[in-house]
Amino acid sequence: MAKIAVIGAGIGGLAAALFCARRGHPVTVIERDEQPKPDATAEDDFRYWDRAGVPHARQGHNFLGLSTRIMREEAPDVLVAAAARGAPRIPVAGADVDENLLCRRLVFEGTLRRIVEAEPGVTVRSGTTATGLVVRGESAAAPHVRGVRLAGEEDVGADLVVDTSGRRTRSVRWLTEVGCRAPAETAQPCGFHYLTQHFRLRAGQVFPVSAVPVYVNLGFTKLVVFAADNGCFQISMTVGADDPLRHRLRDPGVYQRFLQAVPLTAPWLDRSEPIDDPHPMARLEDRWRRLMSEEKPVAAGYVLLGDAAMQTNPAFGRGMPLAFLQAQHLAETAETAKADPASYVVRWDEWAERNLGVWFKAQLASSREQREHIEAGVRGASVAPPRDHVSRFLAALAVLSAHDPEINAVQLRFFNMLMAPQALLRDPVAMPRVHEYLRTHVDRLTPAPGPGRPEFERLVLSRPA
Ligand SMILES: Cc1cc2nc3c(=O)[nH]c(=O)nc-3n(C[C@H](O)[C@H](O)[C@H](O)COP(=O)(O)OP(=O)(O)OC[C@H]3O[C@@H](n4cnc5c(N)ncnc54)[C@H](O)[C@@H]3O)c2cc1C
Repeated sequence: MAKIAVIGAGIGGLAAALFCARRGHPVTVIERDEQPKPDATAEDDFRYWDRAGVPHARQGHNFLGLSTRIMREEAPDVLVAAAARGAPRIPVAGADVDENLLCRRLVFEGTLRRIVEAEPGVTVRSGTTATGLVVRGESAAAPHVRGVRLAGEEDVGADLVVDTSGRRTRSVRWLTEVGCRAPAETAQPCGFHYLTQHFRLRAGQVFPVSAVPVYVNLGFTKLVVFAADNGCFQISMTVGADDPLRHRLRDPGVYQRFLQAVPLTAPWLDRSEPIDDPHPMARLEDRWRRLMSEEKPVAAGYVLLGDAAMQTNPAFGRGMPLAFLQAQHLAETAETAKADPASYVVRWDEWAERNLGVWFKAQLASSREQREHIEAGVRGASVAPPRDHVSRFLAALAVLSAHDPEINAVQLRFFNMLMAPQALLRDPVAMPRVHEYLRTHVDRLTPAPGPGRPEFERLVLSRPA
C-alpha cells in the first residue's frame, strides 16, 4: 500500500482521500480551513461553515452526470447521505442510469467531508496549512518529493503527495523552492465574472422545471439556474470582465429586477425568497498545469489533482467531474507510485493527456467563442456565427435538439460528460443530422428569449420604483 498525503480537503481532495482509502491506502489530508460542526444541518453548513480557502464555495454548482456516476461507482453512500440531507437526484434524459444531483456545493462538501472524516484509514488534519514540499534525494534524475512541510509542525511523510489545494495552488513556488523545474502551463482567461444568488421556494411551491441544465444565453450574458437541496436554488450569471455595469448587479434589487425581466428566471423568482445577496467571483480562467518539462517529470512522487491541475470555465460545470476522474485514476494506480515515483508522474501525465486533454482543448475553443460573444454583446455589436467545425457542430446540435428528442439525448450525454468530444463528432445519430443541417442552413444565431443589451442597461441603471 502507498502512504498518501493529500494537500487540501476541497471536493477533489476529499474524493481522492476517500477513493484511495477504500482501496486500502493510508491517507493523511491537510486542510487549512476548519471542519464543519459535527451536528450541523445542511442549512448550517451553507450559512456558517467558513470556507475562506474556497472563494467559490457559495457559487452555483451543477453536478453533471459523470460526477454522480463516479461517486456511485466509488462511494454510493455519499449520494445516499446527500439524499438524507435533502439533496434529490433526477435522471439524465436519454441515459439509462445516470443522474444529476441537485445540491448546494457546501451541503455536498459537508456531507462528503463527514464521511471522509469517519473513514478508517483517513486522518484529516483541519486548521493545518501546508507550506512546502519535503524533498529527499532523486528518482530518475527528478527531485523526489517525500512529504509535506507544515507551518510550525512536523512534516508529514508520504510515498505520494497529491496536491489538491485548488486554483490558487502554490505548487509552482513549492517546486522551484526545492530545486525542481516549474510545471508547464496553458492558460486562457474566461473574460467574465460570475455572480450567484441563492433563493428558497416558498411553502407549497415546486421548481418550475425539474431539469439540468436550465439556462439561457443572451449573448452579453448567460444565466444558469441550479435547482438544489431542500427547495433551494441558485441563479448565476456571467458578467463581462469589462462590463461597466458589473458592480451595479451586486445590488440585490438590481439583480432581481433583471432576473424578473428574463422569461427563464422570472417564474423561479415568483415562487421564492432570496436567502443571501449576490456573490461575485472574478479571475476565472481555463488553466492546465502539467508536471512535465522537456518530456521529463519535474518531480517524482508528486501529482496535481483537481483545480490545482486543471481548472475550466465554470459556466460549463466540468470541474468536479474532472476532479473525480483524476481521483478515481489515482485510487486505481497509487500502488505503483511507490516502486517508481518518477515514472508514475510520466504515466499520470500520459493518462491526463488522453482522458482530460480532450476536454481541455474543447473547453478552450468553447471559452474563446463565449468570450467573443460576451465582449460583442457588451458593446451592443451583433455576434458572428461560429467559424470552427466543432463550434458550428455544437451550435447546430443546440438548434436541432429543441425539436428532436434523439438529438437532445445526445446533447445531454455530451453536456453531462458521459460522451467525449470526439465521440460526439462521430455519433451515428447526431452526425448525419447535424451535417445535413449545416449543409442546408445558413449559419446564424437565433436570439434567445429575453432582454437585449439596451433593455438590460435600462433595467440596471433605472432607480427602484
Ligand atoms: C464560480 C465557479 C463555479 C463553478 N461551478 C461548477 C459547477 O457547476 N460544476 C462543477 O463540477 N464544478 C464547478 N466549479 C469547479 C469546482 O468548484 C472545482 O473544480 C472543484 O471544487 C474541485 O476543486 P478542488 O478540490 O480541486 O479545489 P477546492 O475546492 O478549491 O479546494 C482546495 C482546498 O485546498 C485548501 N488549501 C489551499 N491551500 C492550502 C494549503 N496550503 N494547505 C492546506 N490546505 C490548503 C483550501 O482551503 C480548500 O479546501 C466551479 C468553480 C467556480 C470558480
